[in-house]
Amino acid sequence: MKGSIFLKVFATTVVLLILLALFFLIFSFPTIRAHYLRTLARDLENLGRVLQPTVLSYLEGEKFDELDRFVKNQGREIRTRLTVVDGTGKVLADSEEDPAVMENHRFRPEIFEALQGRSGQALRYSSTVKEDMLYVAIPIEREGAIIGVIRASLFISEIDLLLSSTKRDIVTATAMIVAIGLLGAYVFSRSLVRPFRELATAFREVGAGNLQTKMSLRFKDEWKDVASSFNAMTEQMRSLLADVRSRKEELDSILTSMREALLVLDKAGKIVLSNPSARRILGQDTLEENFYWQVIRAAGFAELVERLRKEKGSCAGEINLGERTYFGSATFLPAQDRMVIVLTDVTEMQALARVKRDLVLNISHELRTPLTAIKGFAETLASEVGDNQRTYVETILRHTDRLVRILDNLLLLSRLEEPSTELERKSVDVGSLVAHLLKLFETKAQEKNLVLRFEAEPDLPAIEADPFLLEQVVINLIDNAFKYTERGEVRVSLAKKGHYLMLEVADTGIGLAEEDKQRIFERFYVVDKSRSRKLGGSGLGLSIVKHIVGLHGGTIEVDSRLGEGSKFSVFLPLSLSRR
Ligand code: ADP
Repeated sequence: MKGSIFLKVFATTVVLLILLALFFLIFSFPTIRAHYLRTLARDLENLGRVLQPTVLSYLEGEKFDELDRFVKNQGREIRTRLTVVDGTGKVLADSEEDPAVMENHRFRPEIFEALQGRSGQALRYSSTVKEDMLYVAIPIEREGAIIGVIRASLFISEIDLLLSSTKRDIVTATAMIVAIGLLGAYVFSRSLVRPFRELATAFREVGAGNLQTKMSLRFKDEWKDVASSFNAMTEQMRSLLADVRSRKEELDSILTSMREALLVLDKAGKIVLSNPSARRILGQDTLEENFYWQVIRAAGFAELVERLRKEKGSCAGEINLGERTYFGSATFLPAQDRMVIVLTDVTEMQALARVKRDLVLNISHELRTPLTAIKGFAETLASEVGDNQRTYVETILRHTDRLVRILDNLLLLSRLEEPSTELERKSVDVGSLVAHLLKLFETKAQEKNLVLRFEAEPDLPAIEADPFLLEQVVINLIDNAFKYTERGEVRVSLAKKGHYLMLEVADTGIGLAEEDKQRIFERFYVVDKSRSRKLGGSGLGLSIVKHIVGLHGGTIEVDSRLGEGSKFSVFLPLSLSRR
Protein backbone atom coordinates (compact mmCIF):
# COMPACT_ATOMS: atom_id res chain seq x y z
CA MET A 1 0.00 0.00 0.00
CA LYS A 2 2.60 2.51 -1.12
CA GLY A 3 0.48 4.66 -3.36
CA SER A 4 1.15 8.26 -2.52
CA ILE A 5 -2.47 9.38 -3.06
CA PHE A 6 -3.56 6.71 -0.60
CA LEU A 7 -0.97 7.86 1.93
CA LYS A 8 -1.93 11.51 1.51
CA VAL A 9 -5.67 10.91 1.92
CA PHE A 10 -5.25 8.41 4.74
CA ALA A 11 -2.62 10.42 6.65
CA THR A 12 -4.65 13.64 6.31
CA THR A 13 -7.78 11.92 7.60
CA VAL A 14 -5.85 10.33 10.50
CA VAL A 15 -4.27 13.63 11.52
CA LEU A 16 -7.62 15.41 11.29
CA LEU A 17 -9.38 12.75 13.34
CA ILE A 18 -6.72 12.80 16.05
CA LEU A 19 -6.69 16.60 16.18
CA LEU A 20 -10.48 16.66 16.42
CA ALA A 21 -10.44 14.08 19.21
CA LEU A 22 -7.76 16.01 21.14
CA PHE A 23 -9.63 19.26 20.63
CA PHE A 24 -12.80 17.63 21.88
CA LEU A 25 -11.11 16.15 24.92
CA ILE A 26 -9.20 19.33 25.84
CA PHE A 27 -12.21 21.57 25.56
CA SER A 28 -14.87 19.20 26.82
CA PHE A 29 -13.28 18.44 30.23
CA PRO A 30 -13.35 21.99 31.72
CA THR A 31 -16.87 22.46 30.39
CA ILE A 32 -18.08 19.22 31.89
CA ARG A 33 -16.31 20.05 35.21
CA ALA A 34 -17.83 23.54 35.30
CA HIS A 35 -21.27 22.12 34.57
CA TYR A 36 -20.78 19.48 37.26
CA LEU A 37 -19.70 22.08 39.78
CA ARG A 38 -22.70 24.24 38.96
CA THR A 39 -25.05 21.32 39.49
CA LEU A 40 -23.33 20.40 42.78
CA ALA A 41 -23.48 24.00 43.95
CA ARG A 42 -27.19 24.03 43.29
CA ASP A 43 -27.58 20.75 45.18
CA LEU A 44 -25.58 22.17 48.12
CA GLU A 45 -27.73 25.28 48.13
CA ASN A 46 -30.88 23.15 48.16
CA LEU A 47 -29.42 21.11 51.00
CA GLY A 48 -28.80 24.32 52.96
CA ARG A 49 -32.35 25.42 52.40
CA VAL A 50 -33.71 22.04 53.56
CA LEU A 51 -31.62 22.23 56.78
CA GLN A 52 -32.37 25.92 57.31
CA PRO A 53 -35.59 25.56 59.51
CA THR A 54 -33.96 22.98 61.76
CA VAL A 55 -30.81 25.08 62.22
CA LEU A 56 -32.99 28.16 62.84
CA SER A 57 -34.79 26.38 65.63
CA TYR A 58 -31.49 25.41 67.27
CA LEU A 59 -30.24 29.01 66.96
CA GLU A 60 -33.41 30.44 68.40
CA GLY A 61 -33.13 28.12 71.39
CA GLU A 62 -29.39 28.81 71.54
CA LYS A 63 -28.79 25.08 71.72
CA PHE A 64 -25.38 25.25 70.19
CA ASP A 65 -24.05 21.88 71.39
CA GLU A 66 -27.07 20.11 70.02
CA LEU A 67 -26.69 22.05 66.84
CA ASP A 68 -23.07 20.88 66.51
CA ARG A 69 -24.10 17.27 67.08
CA PHE A 70 -26.91 17.58 64.57
CA VAL A 71 -24.52 19.06 62.03
CA LYS A 72 -21.88 16.32 62.59
CA ASN A 73 -24.55 13.59 62.21
CA GLN A 74 -26.01 15.03 59.09
CA GLY A 75 -22.58 15.71 57.56
CA ARG A 76 -21.46 12.10 58.06
CA GLU A 77 -24.68 10.74 56.64
CA ILE A 78 -24.70 12.78 53.54
CA ARG A 79 -20.86 12.91 53.13
CA THR A 80 -20.98 16.66 53.04
CA ARG A 81 -19.23 19.14 55.31
CA LEU A 82 -21.72 21.39 57.05
CA THR A 83 -20.85 24.58 58.98
CA VAL A 84 -23.08 27.02 60.85
CA VAL A 85 -21.88 30.51 61.86
CA ASP A 86 -23.70 33.27 63.74
CA GLY A 87 -24.35 36.80 62.47
CA THR A 88 -20.81 37.83 63.41
CA GLY A 89 -19.08 35.01 61.60
CA LYS A 90 -18.29 32.98 64.70
CA VAL A 91 -18.42 29.23 63.96
CA LEU A 92 -21.22 27.61 66.00
CA ALA A 93 -21.12 24.13 64.51
CA ASP A 94 -19.00 22.19 61.99
CA SER A 95 -19.29 18.61 60.83
CA GLU A 96 -15.52 18.13 60.47
CA GLU A 97 -13.97 20.22 63.31
CA ASP A 98 -14.51 21.44 66.79
CA PRO A 99 -16.08 24.88 66.36
CA ALA A 100 -14.30 26.18 69.44
CA VAL A 101 -10.92 25.90 67.71
CA MET A 102 -12.05 27.41 64.48
CA GLU A 103 -11.31 31.02 63.69
CA ASN A 104 -13.97 33.57 62.81
CA HIS A 105 -15.38 32.88 59.30
CA ARG A 106 -16.89 36.31 58.74
CA PHE A 107 -14.54 37.13 55.91
CA ARG A 108 -14.74 33.81 54.10
CA PRO A 109 -16.02 35.03 50.71
CA GLU A 110 -19.10 32.76 50.62
CA ILE A 111 -20.04 33.61 54.21
CA PHE A 112 -19.42 37.29 53.68
CA GLU A 113 -21.78 37.10 50.72
CA ALA A 114 -24.45 35.21 52.73
CA LEU A 115 -24.20 37.71 55.60
CA GLN A 116 -25.21 40.34 53.01
CA GLY A 117 -28.44 38.39 52.47
CA ARG A 118 -27.43 36.56 49.26
CA SER A 119 -26.39 33.00 48.70
CA GLY A 120 -22.59 32.84 48.43
CA GLN A 121 -20.37 30.45 46.54
CA ALA A 122 -16.65 29.80 46.53
CA LEU A 123 -14.16 27.29 45.30
CA ARG A 124 -11.02 27.54 47.35
CA TYR A 125 -8.55 26.00 49.72
CA SER A 126 -9.81 25.28 53.21
CA SER A 127 -7.34 26.21 55.92
CA THR A 128 -9.41 24.13 58.36
CA VAL A 129 -9.37 20.81 56.49
CA LYS A 130 -6.35 21.66 54.30
CA GLU A 131 -8.01 20.75 50.99
CA ASP A 132 -9.69 22.48 48.02
CA MET A 133 -13.41 22.69 48.58
CA LEU A 134 -16.62 23.88 46.98
CA TYR A 135 -18.59 26.07 49.38
CA VAL A 136 -22.22 27.22 49.22
CA ALA A 137 -23.55 29.47 52.00
CA ILE A 138 -27.11 30.73 52.54
CA PRO A 139 -28.28 33.23 55.14
CA ILE A 140 -30.55 32.24 58.07
CA GLU A 141 -33.02 34.98 58.65
CA ARG A 142 -35.39 35.74 61.48
CA GLU A 143 -37.84 38.58 61.17
CA GLY A 144 -35.81 40.23 58.46
CA ALA A 145 -32.47 40.05 60.33
CA ILE A 146 -29.67 37.73 59.41
CA ILE A 147 -28.81 35.76 62.49
CA GLY A 148 -26.53 33.23 61.00
CA VAL A 149 -25.31 31.39 57.93
CA ILE A 150 -25.49 27.74 57.02
CA ARG A 151 -22.73 26.50 54.75
CA ALA A 152 -22.51 23.19 52.89
CA SER A 153 -19.25 22.18 51.23
CA LEU A 154 -17.74 19.32 49.28
CA PHE A 155 -14.11 18.25 48.74
CA ILE A 156 -12.96 19.04 45.28
CA SER A 157 -10.92 15.82 45.32
CA GLU A 158 -14.14 13.96 45.74
CA ILE A 159 -15.72 15.90 42.92
CA ASP A 160 -12.70 15.12 40.73
CA LEU A 161 -12.96 11.47 41.71
CA LEU A 162 -16.52 11.46 40.50
CA LEU A 163 -15.50 13.33 37.38
CA SER A 164 -12.58 11.04 36.59
CA SER A 165 -14.87 8.09 35.85
CA THR A 166 -16.89 10.33 33.50
CA LYS A 167 -13.58 11.36 31.93
CA ARG A 168 -12.59 7.73 31.46
CA ASP A 169 -15.90 7.04 29.74
CA ILE A 170 -15.46 10.05 27.46
CA VAL A 171 -11.87 9.09 26.59
CA THR A 172 -12.95 5.50 25.85
CA ALA A 173 -15.84 6.67 23.68
CA THR A 174 -13.57 9.13 21.85
CA ALA A 175 -10.93 6.45 21.32
CA MET A 176 -13.59 4.14 19.90
CA ILE A 177 -14.88 6.87 17.60
CA VAL A 178 -11.31 7.60 16.44
CA ALA A 179 -10.68 3.89 15.85
CA ILE A 180 -13.88 3.56 13.80
CA GLY A 181 -12.97 6.78 12.01
CA LEU A 182 -9.51 5.40 11.18
CA LEU A 183 -11.00 2.20 9.84
CA GLY A 184 -13.45 4.26 7.77
CA ALA A 185 -10.62 6.47 6.53
CA TYR A 186 -8.59 3.40 5.55
CA VAL A 187 -11.49 1.86 3.65
CA PHE A 188 -12.40 5.23 2.08
CA SER A 189 -8.80 5.98 1.04
CA ARG A 190 -8.42 2.53 -0.48
CA SER A 191 -11.67 2.83 -2.41
CA LEU A 192 -10.67 6.34 -3.54
CA VAL A 193 -7.27 5.21 -4.74
CA ARG A 194 -8.30 1.91 -6.33
CA PRO A 195 -9.63 3.40 -9.62
CA PHE A 196 -6.50 5.58 -9.91
CA ARG A 197 -4.31 2.53 -9.49
CA GLU A 198 -6.39 0.59 -11.97
CA LEU A 199 -6.19 3.47 -14.48
CA ALA A 200 -2.41 3.77 -13.99
CA THR A 201 -1.99 0.01 -14.54
CA ALA A 202 -4.18 0.18 -17.65
CA PHE A 203 -2.14 3.07 -19.08
CA ARG A 204 1.08 1.21 -18.30
CA GLU A 205 -0.27 -1.78 -20.21
CA VAL A 206 -1.27 0.39 -23.18
CA GLY A 207 2.15 2.04 -23.07
CA ALA A 208 3.72 -1.41 -23.24
CA GLY A 209 1.72 -2.04 -26.41
CA ASN A 210 -1.13 -4.14 -25.03
CA LEU A 211 -4.16 -2.51 -26.62
CA GLN A 212 -6.43 -5.33 -25.44
CA THR A 213 -6.36 -3.68 -21.99
CA LYS A 214 -9.80 -2.87 -20.64
CA MET A 215 -10.86 -1.08 -17.46
CA SER A 216 -13.52 -2.70 -15.30
CA LEU A 217 -16.92 -1.00 -15.44
CA ARG A 218 -17.89 -1.95 -11.86
CA PHE A 219 -17.45 1.64 -10.61
CA LYS A 220 -20.66 3.53 -10.07
CA ASP A 221 -19.62 7.17 -10.06
CA GLU A 222 -17.70 9.40 -12.52
CA TRP A 223 -15.11 6.66 -12.76
CA LYS A 224 -17.58 4.65 -14.79
CA ASP A 225 -17.42 7.40 -17.45
CA VAL A 226 -13.62 7.47 -17.23
CA ALA A 227 -13.47 3.67 -17.58
CA SER A 228 -15.83 3.55 -20.53
CA SER A 229 -13.98 6.46 -22.23
CA PHE A 230 -10.70 4.63 -21.66
CA ASN A 231 -12.14 1.45 -23.16
CA ALA A 232 -13.52 3.39 -26.14
CA MET A 233 -10.10 5.00 -26.58
CA THR A 234 -8.22 1.68 -26.63
CA GLU A 235 -10.86 0.26 -28.98
CA GLN A 236 -10.36 3.21 -31.32
CA MET A 237 -6.58 2.89 -31.06
CA ARG A 238 -6.84 -0.83 -31.84
CA SER A 239 -8.87 -0.27 -34.96
CA LEU A 240 -6.63 2.61 -36.06
CA LEU A 241 -3.53 0.52 -35.50
CA ALA A 242 -5.03 -2.40 -37.38
CA ASP A 243 -5.88 -0.03 -40.19
CA VAL A 244 -2.40 1.47 -40.22
CA ARG A 245 -0.84 -2.02 -40.11
CA SER A 246 -2.90 -3.31 -42.99
CA ARG A 247 -2.17 -0.16 -45.01
CA LYS A 248 1.53 -0.50 -44.25
CA GLU A 249 1.50 -4.16 -45.25
CA GLU A 250 -0.37 -3.25 -48.41
CA LEU A 251 2.11 -0.48 -49.18
CA ASP A 252 5.07 -2.74 -48.38
CA SER A 253 3.83 -5.45 -50.69
CA ILE A 254 3.15 -2.90 -53.45
CA LEU A 255 6.61 -1.39 -53.02
CA THR A 256 8.24 -4.81 -52.94
CA SER A 257 6.42 -6.12 -55.98
CA MET A 258 7.08 -2.97 -58.03
CA ARG A 259 9.50 -3.43 -60.90
CA GLU A 260 10.03 0.31 -60.86
CA ALA A 261 12.49 1.85 -58.46
CA LEU A 262 10.88 4.14 -55.90
CA LEU A 263 12.68 6.70 -53.79
CA VAL A 264 11.25 9.17 -51.31
CA LEU A 265 13.49 12.13 -50.49
CA ASP A 266 13.08 14.70 -47.75
CA LYS A 267 13.47 18.38 -48.52
CA ALA A 268 17.22 18.22 -47.92
CA GLY A 269 17.56 15.43 -50.50
CA LYS A 270 18.05 12.63 -47.98
CA ILE A 271 16.52 9.27 -48.92
CA VAL A 272 13.84 8.38 -46.39
CA LEU A 273 12.29 5.42 -48.17
CA SER A 274 13.27 3.09 -50.98
CA ASN A 275 11.94 -0.15 -52.39
CA PRO A 276 13.92 -3.34 -53.21
CA SER A 277 14.00 -2.46 -56.93
CA ALA A 278 15.69 0.86 -56.14
CA ARG A 279 18.30 -0.89 -53.99
CA ARG A 280 18.87 -3.50 -56.72
CA ILE A 281 19.23 -0.89 -59.47
CA LEU A 282 21.59 1.24 -57.43
CA GLY A 283 23.50 -1.79 -56.12
CA GLN A 284 23.15 -0.84 -52.45
CA ASP A 285 21.89 -2.83 -49.47
CA THR A 286 20.44 0.23 -47.80
CA LEU A 287 19.70 3.63 -49.24
CA GLU A 288 17.91 5.27 -46.33
CA GLU A 289 19.84 8.01 -44.50
CA ASN A 290 22.02 8.67 -47.57
CA PHE A 291 21.74 11.85 -49.57
CA TYR A 292 20.68 11.01 -53.12
CA TRP A 293 23.89 12.38 -54.62
CA GLN A 294 25.92 9.95 -52.52
CA VAL A 295 24.33 6.96 -54.25
CA ILE A 296 23.04 8.26 -57.60
CA ARG A 297 25.62 10.03 -59.70
CA ALA A 298 23.47 10.48 -62.81
CA ALA A 299 23.20 14.12 -63.85
CA GLY A 300 19.62 13.60 -65.07
CA PHE A 301 18.51 12.60 -61.58
CA ALA A 302 19.97 15.70 -59.93
CA GLU A 303 18.35 17.86 -62.66
CA LEU A 304 14.99 16.19 -62.05
CA VAL A 305 15.21 16.77 -58.29
CA GLU A 306 16.21 20.40 -58.76
CA ARG A 307 13.36 20.97 -61.22
CA LEU A 308 10.88 19.40 -58.81
CA ARG A 309 12.20 21.54 -55.95
CA LYS A 310 11.55 24.64 -58.03
CA GLU A 311 8.24 23.69 -59.64
CA LYS A 312 6.80 21.86 -56.57
CA GLY A 313 4.28 19.97 -58.71
CA SER A 314 5.36 17.02 -60.77
CA CYS A 315 7.86 16.57 -63.58
CA ALA A 316 9.55 13.87 -65.58
CA GLY A 317 12.84 13.28 -67.34
CA GLU A 318 15.16 10.72 -68.79
CA ILE A 319 17.94 9.39 -66.58
CA ASN A 320 20.89 7.28 -67.68
CA LEU A 321 22.32 4.99 -65.05
CA GLY A 322 25.25 3.02 -66.43
CA GLU A 323 24.13 1.16 -69.54
CA ARG A 324 20.45 1.61 -68.84
CA THR A 325 17.96 4.35 -69.45
CA TYR A 326 15.20 5.19 -67.00
CA PHE A 327 12.13 7.33 -67.22
CA GLY A 328 12.04 9.30 -64.01
CA SER A 329 8.73 10.65 -62.81
CA ALA A 330 8.88 12.93 -59.78
CA THR A 331 6.04 14.22 -57.61
CA PHE A 332 6.21 16.71 -54.76
CA LEU A 333 4.18 15.95 -51.60
CA PRO A 334 3.48 19.35 -50.05
CA ALA A 335 1.99 18.02 -46.80
CA GLN A 336 5.14 16.11 -45.92
CA ASP A 337 7.54 18.36 -47.84
CA ARG A 338 8.87 15.26 -49.58
CA MET A 339 9.64 14.16 -53.11
CA VAL A 340 8.61 10.83 -54.58
CA ILE A 341 10.65 9.66 -57.55
CA VAL A 342 9.79 6.58 -59.60
CA LEU A 343 12.33 5.24 -62.10
CA THR A 344 11.01 3.02 -64.85
CA ASP A 345 13.51 1.07 -66.93
CA VAL A 346 12.81 2.05 -70.53
CA THR A 347 16.02 0.65 -72.06
CA GLU A 348 14.26 -2.24 -73.86
CA MET A 349 11.27 -0.10 -74.75
CA GLN A 350 13.50 2.54 -76.27
CA ALA A 351 15.52 -0.09 -78.16
CA LEU A 352 12.28 -1.59 -79.46
CA ALA A 353 10.95 1.81 -80.46
CA ARG A 354 14.22 2.51 -82.25
CA VAL A 355 14.02 -0.83 -84.09
CA LYS A 356 10.40 -0.08 -85.02
CA ARG A 357 11.27 3.40 -86.19
CA ASP A 358 14.25 2.14 -88.17
CA LEU A 359 12.11 -0.59 -89.71
CA VAL A 360 9.40 1.86 -90.78
CA LEU A 361 12.03 4.26 -92.03
CA ASN A 362 13.87 1.57 -93.98
CA ILE A 363 10.71 0.06 -95.47
CA SER A 364 9.44 3.49 -96.43
CA HIS A 365 12.77 4.35 -98.04
CA GLU A 366 13.00 1.04 -99.84
CA LEU A 367 9.42 1.25 -101.11
CA ARG A 368 9.60 4.85 -102.20
CA THR A 369 12.18 4.33 -105.03
CA PRO A 370 10.30 1.51 -106.82
CA LEU A 371 7.04 3.37 -106.24
CA THR A 372 8.45 6.51 -107.85
CA ALA A 373 9.56 4.37 -110.82
CA ILE A 374 6.09 2.74 -111.05
CA LYS A 375 4.49 6.16 -110.88
CA GLY A 376 6.77 7.51 -113.66
CA PHE A 377 6.10 4.56 -115.95
CA ALA A 378 2.39 4.64 -115.24
CA GLU A 379 2.29 8.33 -116.17
CA THR A 380 4.13 7.56 -119.42
CA LEU A 381 1.81 4.63 -120.03
CA ALA A 382 -1.27 6.79 -119.45
CA SER A 383 -0.37 9.08 -122.31
CA GLU A 384 0.23 6.17 -124.66
CA VAL A 385 -2.62 3.70 -124.01
CA GLY A 386 -6.03 3.86 -125.56
CA ASP A 387 -9.18 4.94 -123.70
CA ASN A 388 -10.07 1.34 -122.73
CA GLN A 389 -6.85 0.76 -120.81
CA ARG A 390 -6.55 4.32 -119.45
CA THR A 391 -8.96 3.69 -116.56
CA TYR A 392 -6.70 0.82 -115.39
CA VAL A 393 -3.61 2.95 -115.65
CA GLU A 394 -5.35 5.82 -113.79
CA THR A 395 -6.35 3.42 -111.00
CA ILE A 396 -2.69 2.33 -110.79
CA LEU A 397 -1.70 6.00 -110.65
CA ARG A 398 -4.28 6.85 -107.94
CA HIS A 399 -3.16 4.00 -105.72
CA THR A 400 0.47 4.78 -106.33
CA ASP A 401 -0.17 8.40 -105.27
CA ARG A 402 -1.88 7.17 -102.11
CA LEU A 403 1.01 4.86 -101.32
CA VAL A 404 3.50 7.66 -101.89
CA ARG A 405 1.48 9.90 -99.54
CA ILE A 406 1.38 7.20 -96.89
CA LEU A 407 5.12 6.63 -97.20
CA ASP A 408 5.80 10.38 -97.02
CA ASN A 409 3.67 10.64 -93.91
CA LEU A 410 5.38 7.62 -92.35
CA LEU A 411 8.81 9.10 -93.10
CA LEU A 412 7.72 12.41 -91.55
CA LEU A 413 6.34 10.68 -88.45
CA SER A 414 9.52 8.68 -88.02
CA ARG A 415 11.52 11.86 -88.26
CA LEU A 416 9.31 13.58 -85.71
CA GLU A 417 9.59 10.67 -83.32
CA GLU A 418 13.35 10.62 -83.46
CA PRO A 419 14.44 11.86 -79.98
CA SER A 420 17.30 13.82 -81.54
CA THR A 421 14.95 15.76 -83.85
CA GLU A 422 15.59 19.47 -83.51
CA LEU A 423 13.02 21.96 -84.73
CA GLU A 424 14.20 24.53 -87.16
CA ARG A 425 12.71 27.39 -85.26
CA LYS A 426 12.15 30.72 -86.88
CA SER A 427 9.97 33.65 -86.06
CA VAL A 428 6.73 32.81 -87.83
CA ASP A 429 3.83 35.14 -88.51
CA VAL A 430 1.11 32.50 -88.26
CA GLY A 431 -1.51 34.92 -89.73
CA SER A 432 0.25 35.27 -93.07
CA LEU A 433 1.22 31.57 -93.05
CA VAL A 434 -2.45 30.58 -92.75
CA ALA A 435 -3.61 33.23 -95.26
CA HIS A 436 -1.07 31.92 -97.77
CA LEU A 437 -2.14 28.27 -97.28
CA LEU A 438 -5.85 29.09 -97.52
CA LYS A 439 -5.29 30.03 -101.16
CA LEU A 440 -4.55 26.34 -101.86
CA PHE A 441 -8.03 25.45 -100.66
CA GLU A 442 -10.02 28.11 -102.52
CA THR A 443 -10.63 25.87 -105.54
CA LYS A 444 -11.64 23.00 -103.28
CA ALA A 445 -14.11 25.29 -101.48
CA GLN A 446 -15.66 26.32 -104.77
CA GLU A 447 -15.83 22.70 -105.98
CA LYS A 448 -17.60 21.56 -102.80
CA ASN A 449 -19.61 24.78 -102.57
CA LEU A 450 -18.32 25.50 -99.04
CA VAL A 451 -17.67 28.88 -97.46
CA LEU A 452 -14.05 29.27 -96.39
CA ARG A 453 -13.62 31.90 -93.71
CA PHE A 454 -10.58 33.24 -91.97
CA GLU A 455 -10.72 35.36 -88.83
CA ALA A 456 -7.58 36.62 -87.11
CA GLU A 457 -7.24 38.99 -84.16
CA PRO A 458 -5.26 42.08 -85.17
CA ASP A 459 -1.63 42.50 -84.05
CA LEU A 460 -1.01 38.89 -83.23
CA PRO A 461 2.58 38.31 -82.13
CA ALA A 462 4.87 36.09 -84.16
CA ILE A 463 5.87 32.78 -82.61
CA GLU A 464 9.06 30.78 -82.64
CA ALA A 465 8.25 27.70 -84.70
CA ASP A 466 9.36 25.39 -87.49
CA PRO A 467 7.49 26.93 -90.48
CA PHE A 468 7.49 23.76 -92.58
CA LEU A 469 6.02 21.65 -89.77
CA LEU A 470 3.53 24.37 -88.86
CA GLU A 471 2.32 24.36 -92.47
CA GLN A 472 1.77 20.62 -92.15
CA VAL A 473 -0.43 21.24 -89.12
CA VAL A 474 -2.54 23.87 -90.87
CA ILE A 475 -2.81 21.87 -94.11
CA ASN A 476 -3.77 18.60 -92.38
CA LEU A 477 -6.46 20.27 -90.26
CA ILE A 478 -8.00 22.29 -93.13
CA ASP A 479 -7.71 19.28 -95.45
CA ASN A 480 -9.65 17.14 -92.93
CA ALA A 481 -12.26 19.87 -92.52
CA PHE A 482 -12.88 19.86 -96.28
CA LYS A 483 -12.80 16.05 -96.48
CA TYR A 484 -15.44 15.54 -93.84
CA THR A 485 -17.76 18.48 -94.64
CA GLU A 486 -20.37 18.43 -97.42
CA ARG A 487 -22.15 21.70 -96.76
CA GLY A 488 -21.80 24.82 -94.73
CA GLU A 489 -18.45 26.34 -93.96
CA VAL A 490 -14.88 25.83 -92.91
CA ARG A 491 -13.69 28.51 -90.55
CA VAL A 492 -10.10 29.14 -89.56
CA SER A 493 -9.40 31.58 -86.75
CA LEU A 494 -6.41 32.88 -84.85
CA ALA A 495 -6.44 34.49 -81.42
CA LYS A 496 -4.26 35.12 -78.41
CA LYS A 497 -5.23 33.12 -75.31
CA GLY A 498 -3.01 33.95 -72.34
CA HIS A 499 0.50 32.80 -73.09
CA TYR A 500 -0.67 30.86 -76.15
CA LEU A 501 -1.62 31.49 -79.74
CA MET A 502 -4.84 29.66 -80.53
CA LEU A 503 -5.40 28.28 -84.03
CA GLU A 504 -8.91 26.98 -84.56
CA VAL A 505 -10.19 25.01 -87.56
CA ALA A 506 -13.94 24.53 -87.36
CA ASP A 507 -16.31 22.91 -89.82
CA THR A 508 -20.00 22.11 -90.16
CA GLY A 509 -19.33 18.56 -91.34
CA ILE A 510 -20.14 15.05 -90.18
CA GLY A 511 -18.63 15.50 -86.71
CA LEU A 512 -17.25 12.83 -84.42
CA ALA A 513 -18.74 10.40 -81.94
CA GLU A 514 -17.53 10.63 -78.34
CA GLU A 515 -15.55 7.35 -78.48
CA ASP A 516 -13.80 8.39 -81.75
CA LYS A 517 -12.76 11.78 -80.34
CA GLN A 518 -10.39 10.00 -77.94
CA ARG A 519 -8.76 7.91 -80.66
CA ILE A 520 -8.43 10.02 -83.83
CA PHE A 521 -4.88 11.10 -82.86
CA GLU A 522 -3.65 7.48 -82.88
CA ARG A 523 -1.73 6.58 -86.01
CA PHE A 524 -3.76 4.75 -88.66
CA TYR A 525 -7.00 5.30 -86.75
CA VAL A 526 -9.85 6.14 -89.10
CA VAL A 527 -13.52 6.31 -88.21
CA ASP A 528 -14.92 5.07 -91.51
CA LYS A 529 -12.31 3.03 -93.41
CA SER A 530 -14.01 3.01 -96.84
CA ARG A 531 -14.83 6.72 -96.72
CA SER A 532 -11.29 7.58 -95.61
CA ARG A 533 -9.76 5.39 -98.32
CA LYS A 534 -12.04 7.00 -100.93
CA LEU A 535 -10.92 10.42 -99.75
CA GLY A 536 -7.27 9.39 -99.88
CA GLY A 537 -6.83 9.37 -96.09
CA SER A 538 -4.56 7.02 -94.20
CA GLY A 539 -5.19 7.86 -90.52
CA LEU A 540 -1.76 9.49 -90.13
CA GLY A 541 -2.70 13.17 -90.58
CA LEU A 542 -3.86 13.95 -87.05
CA SER A 543 -1.11 11.83 -85.54
CA ILE A 544 1.43 14.03 -87.38
CA VAL A 545 -0.41 17.18 -86.22
CA LYS A 546 -0.32 16.08 -82.58
CA HIS A 547 3.39 15.27 -82.77
CA ILE A 548 4.28 18.60 -84.33
CA VAL A 549 2.20 20.53 -81.80
CA GLY A 550 3.84 18.57 -78.98
CA LEU A 551 7.31 19.30 -80.33
CA HIS A 552 6.45 22.99 -80.17
CA GLY A 553 5.38 22.65 -76.53
CA GLY A 554 1.71 23.10 -77.40
CA THR A 555 -1.52 21.12 -77.06
CA ILE A 556 -4.44 20.20 -79.28
CA GLU A 557 -8.09 19.78 -78.32
CA VAL A 558 -11.09 18.64 -80.27
CA ASP A 559 -14.66 19.64 -79.73
CA SER A 560 -17.16 17.86 -81.92
CA ARG A 561 -20.68 16.55 -82.07
CA LEU A 562 -21.87 13.90 -84.48
CA GLY A 563 -23.71 15.46 -87.43
CA GLU A 564 -22.99 19.02 -86.28
CA GLY A 565 -19.34 19.57 -87.10
CA SER A 566 -15.94 19.60 -85.45
CA LYS A 567 -13.61 22.17 -84.01
CA PHE A 568 -9.89 21.51 -83.62
CA SER A 569 -8.08 23.99 -81.36
CA VAL A 570 -4.28 24.15 -81.35
CA PHE A 571 -2.51 26.10 -78.59
CA LEU A 572 1.06 27.12 -79.35
CA PRO A 573 3.19 28.85 -76.72
CA LEU A 574 3.98 32.46 -77.55
CA SER A 575 7.39 32.35 -75.95
CA LEU A 576 9.94 29.74 -76.81
CA SER A 577 9.60 26.69 -74.63
CA ARG A 578 11.86 23.69 -74.36
CA ARG A 579 10.29 20.44 -75.27
P1 ADP B 1 -7.24 10.71 -92.43
O1 ADP B 1 -6.07 10.78 -93.30
O2 ADP B 1 -8.00 9.44 -92.52
O3 ADP B 1 -8.09 11.93 -92.50
P2 ADP B 1 -6.49 11.73 -89.88
O4 ADP B 1 -5.49 11.26 -88.90
O5 ADP B 1 -6.31 13.07 -90.46
O6 ADP B 1 -6.59 10.63 -91.01
O7 ADP B 1 -7.91 11.67 -89.22
C1 ADP B 1 -8.28 10.51 -88.50
C2 ADP B 1 -9.75 10.33 -88.52
O8 ADP B 1 -10.37 11.39 -87.83
C3 ADP B 1 -10.36 10.45 -89.91
O9 ADP B 1 -10.38 9.17 -90.55
C4 ADP B 1 -11.75 10.96 -89.65
O10 ADP B 1 -12.63 9.87 -89.45
C5 ADP B 1 -11.60 11.75 -88.40
N1 ADP B 1 -11.58 13.21 -88.67
C6 ADP B 1 -10.51 13.98 -88.81
N2 ADP B 1 -10.84 15.27 -89.02
C7 ADP B 1 -12.20 15.30 -89.03
C8 ADP B 1 -13.18 16.33 -89.20
N3 ADP B 1 -12.82 17.60 -89.38
N4 ADP B 1 -14.49 15.98 -89.12
C9 ADP B 1 -14.85 14.71 -88.93
N5 ADP B 1 -13.97 13.69 -88.76
C10 ADP B 1 -12.67 13.98 -88.79
